[in-house]
Formats: sequence, structure tokens, C-alpha cells
Amino acid sequence: QESLHVSTRLMEERLEANLRLQEQLHDMAHRDSLTGLNNRRILESISARLIDTADAIGSSLVAVSLDLDHFKRLNDTYGHKAGDDALVAIAGVLTRSLRPGEVAVRMGGEEFLVLMPNAGMEEARARTEAWRAVIRSQPVMTSQGAAEITFSAGISSYPETAASFEQLVQQADKAVYSAKRAGRNRVVLVRPPGEAGDGRVRSA
Ligand code: GH3
Ligand code: MG
Ligand code: MG
Repeated sequence: QESLHVSTRLMEERLEANLRLQEQLHDMAHRDSLTGLNNRRILESISARLIDTADAIGSSLVAVSLDLDHFKRLNDTYGHKAGDDALVAIAGVLTRSLRPGEVAVRMGGEEFLVLMPNAGMEEARARTEAWRAVIRSQPVMTSQGAAEITFSAGISSYPETAASFEQLVQQADKAVYSAKRAGRNRVVLVRPPGEAGDGRVRSA
């Protein structure tokens, strides 16, 4: 009787330890170690749920795609550490600004994606402009002095401009390239279909 109890408890403890290990592995697989943000693998597990929720309550899902400007030059001029510091700084600004239900992702390199359920595009533009202002006010300190960081951003919205999650992200990325072409350090919104020049982008 006694030994049965002990072995049951042992089994429970092992199961528990196993679950914790699984959680840790899941977290490691979905988290970027430099910035602490989610990495892009998180999208596989949340994109369908975000879209389903938007459909169910008749609301939106806004995507803000961000790409740091001339990041290669920052690395080349001030070193890789300065580049890393800039990435951590951006991640901190995004994380501190997140509202419940919002997700920030490091997509790779110096590219980030913020998903805002139930937001409007203009609201997202205001949030993104606020991030731009904060980033501008906190330059990265390097051995050669302060280095200013800027980013270009693109904003799309399901179902207003995009018909699927994949299209949502594609459009936001395309808008980033428009922002780059227009001179960088700016925010570009995707135009809803039906508007003049639909499927294209509108500038800030
Ligand atoms: P653009 O304004 O057109 O976006 O130019 P860019 O230089 O920002 O873009 P590009 O894609 O040419 O360069 C991205 C650079 O980011 C190249 C790569 O070495 C650097 N990078 C990627 N990941 C990291 C990282 O984790 N840390 C650092 N320090 N640099 C990184
Ligand atoms: Mg890039
Ligand atoms: Mg870049």
C-alpha cells in the first residue's frame, strides 16, 4: 500500500517535470533569445485563432510590419553590438506598448511584426508613429557616440485590405518597401480594395 503511494507520487512528479520541460522547449522554440520576443514560428500556432476570433466577433486584425532603416550600415559603422542594442531597444519599445491580446514578433534580422486584434488602421498608424517618436528619443549608445535608429513600417488590416492572414502579412511587408522607396523613416498604410488605386499603398 505504502509503496504503491510512493510510486504513484513519483510518477506524478515525473509527469509534472516532463510537462514543465515540454513547456520550456515550446517556449525556447517560439522565443527569440536576443530580444525576448516571439519568433516567427509563433504565427503557426496563433494566426488561425486570431482570424477566427476576428470573424466570430466581426472585428479586425491589424498587422504592423517594421524594418529598421540602414541597419547594415549601423552594424558596419558601430559594430554588431550596437546593432544588437538597437534590436533590443526596439523590442523593448514594442513590448512596453503592447495591449492585452496584442503580439509582437521578431520575424528575423531587423524585421518585426505587431498584430493588433480589433484595432483600426488609423489607430495603428498613431501607435506606430508614437513608437517612431520614442525610438528617436532614445539613440543607441556606441563607442563612437549616440546612433539614431529609424524604421520604416507598413500597415494592413483583415478583412479591410486583406482576405487572409498570409495576405495580411504580405501586404504589410509590401507597404514597408513602399516606405523604403519613399525615403524610409515613415509609415505607409495599405489601401482598402475599392478605393482609388486599390491594392496599392497610401502614404502617411
Ligand atoms: P534597409 O534600410 O533597406 O532596410 O537596409 P538595411 O541595411 O536595414 O537592410 P539589409 O537587409 O541590407 O541588412 C540587414 C542587416 O541586418 C544585415 C545583417 O547583418 C543584420 N542583422 C541581421 N540580424 C542581426 C542581429 O541579430 N544582430 C545584428 N547586429 N545585426 C543583424
Ligand atoms: Mg530587412
Ligand atoms: Mg532594414
